[in-house]
Amino acid sequence: MSTTRRTFLATGAALGGSVILPFTAKAAAHGGNTFEVDGGQIVVHPVNHASVVLETPIGVIYADPVGDASQYADFPEPDMIFITHEHGDHYNAETIQAVSKAATQLVTNIAVYDMLPPDLQMKAQQAANGESVDVSGLMVEAVPAYNITEGRLDFHPQGRDNGYVFEIGGRRIYISGDTEGTPEMRALEDIYLAFVSMNLPFTMAADQAADAVSEFAPTYVYPYHYRGRDGGTQDPEEFASLMAETDAETEVRIGDWYEPGEV
Ligand code: ZN
Ligand code: ZN
Repeated sequence: MSTTRRTFLATGAALGGSVILPFTAKAAAHGGNTFEVDGGQIVVHPVNHASVVLETPIGVIYADPVGDASQYADFPEPDMIFITHEHGDHYNAETIQAVSKAATQLVTNIAVYDMLPPDLQMKAQQAANGESVDVSGLMVEAVPAYNITEGRLDFHPQGRDNGYVFEIGGRRIYISGDTEGTPEMRALEDIYLAFVSMNLPFTMAADQAADAVSEFAPTYVYPYHYRGRDGGTQDPEEFASLMAETDAETEVRIGDWYEPGEV
């Protein structure tokens, strides 16, 4: 734990330096991505689609970092990387290798663990659905992520892929991975900050997402992973208005997940 903490404080100190300025400007421009927790703040950086960086009081977490490593150049290096599953928009070994530092620790589902190159496998822990792993004192629980609708079942078969729940500064955070509104998602309790995927045909539609999210009612939710092929893109604003019609007192946060015009 102390190693992670020291590392984070070191990178945190760098935040005041000019190196981070371009990134700070971006954060300020989009606003609203900072969340108060015990011991500090969680700053959410939507990178792209399913890739997100979280700066937290216990370290820097990357979830499903893929794509060109330059996208991460303005962020502190990750203390932890969580990989939900093997699809190319979630797992790319070269990206992980490029953004990691020596002390970076990985958590993956079992299928991804088995395909990791040796240098990454040495840094990794695997978690089956429902298991929790201890990452320098942070308990990371693997929540099942899978399709439940006929015709979509092969995209994310039950038992293979993960979402993750972990608690930082007294607040529980949920990253859904690629899933529909499973019973396990609906049964989540006391989630403060959630990231929930929606796109067709791979995950779910905006109305299905709103139905599931309103049931576990996180304090804040980011729709993410919402562009798809063949008209499968879901509108995060539609999701937000559907959420507003429910009883859930959930605040929807719209992040900048895509470049203008990106399909
Ligand atoms: Zn997937
Ligand atoms: Zn995906």
